[in-house]
Amino acid sequence: MKNYHTHTYRCHHAIGLERDYIEQAIDQGFTTLGFSDHAPWHYDSSFKPFMRMQESEIEDYVLTLRKLREEYQDRIDIKIGFEAEYFEDKMAWMKETIKRYDIDYLILGNHYDGSDEDGSYYGMPPQTLESVTRYCDQVIKGMETGLFSYVAHPDVIYYDQHDQRHLNELERLCLKAKELDIPLEFNMLGYLHNRHYPSAPYLKMVRDIGNKMIVGCDAHEASAIDANKMRTVIERLKKEGFILTDEISFLR
Ligand SMILES: [Zn+2]
Ligand SMILES: [Zn+2]
Repeated sequence: MKNYHTHTYRCHHAIGLERDYIEQAIDQGFTTLGFSDHAPWHYDSSFKPFMRMQESEIEDYVLTLRKLREEYQDRIDIKIGFEAEYFEDKMAWMKETIKRYDIDYLILGNHYDGSDEDGSYYGMPPQTLESVTRYCDQVIKGMETGLFSYVAHPDVIYYDQHDQRHLNELERLCLKAKELDIPLEFNMLGYLHNRHYPSAPYLKMVRDIGNKMIVGCDAHEASAIDANKMRTVIERLKKEGFILTDEISFLR
């Protein structure tokens, strides 16, 4: 079993050390554990982000994980990544950063309309058709960069499930993912915490379009890496006709 969606305490809303997540994953029989903490960004102002690591913490994040990767190499395959938005004006910085630190992969978790410095969180109601459109455009542009291995919680956007225009936008995102062969996530955190995602219309779309789906723990604490819960979901989704994958593309 593999999980590519794992956070660390650096994002200010996850707990536990990297080692705790790794030990838990080994105990649970996982063969791969990918860390994808909320990516830092470069801000031109003195803004200090509150839901992601600071730019100055990248080095510690990467070096800590490299050491652990070596220490645990016989027991589990550790990958080093980020969960990042597509912030158009900051992508040149991100490209340089992933190169400089030899980052294995990025997942696309598009949380903010604008950036977290001056924008708003997409996951709060209500969202207008315009913001749903902006969200989907942003995800599509992100997918088109070829930098992202999969889309995390594609329906984190608090769209109106009863508005066909909102559904059409989300469908546009799923169709683009299918065209580009980029998996979409079944987010275990949202599922287990009864959040607004994964939402029924989104799941129906993914199944009807035939998107590849990947299950991600979105672990913000070690215990969220739970093989039984993940297996139950995977088996149910397979039975319901979803195309499951646990393979992702890497940057290097
Ligand atoms: Zn988070
Ligand atoms: Zn996440």
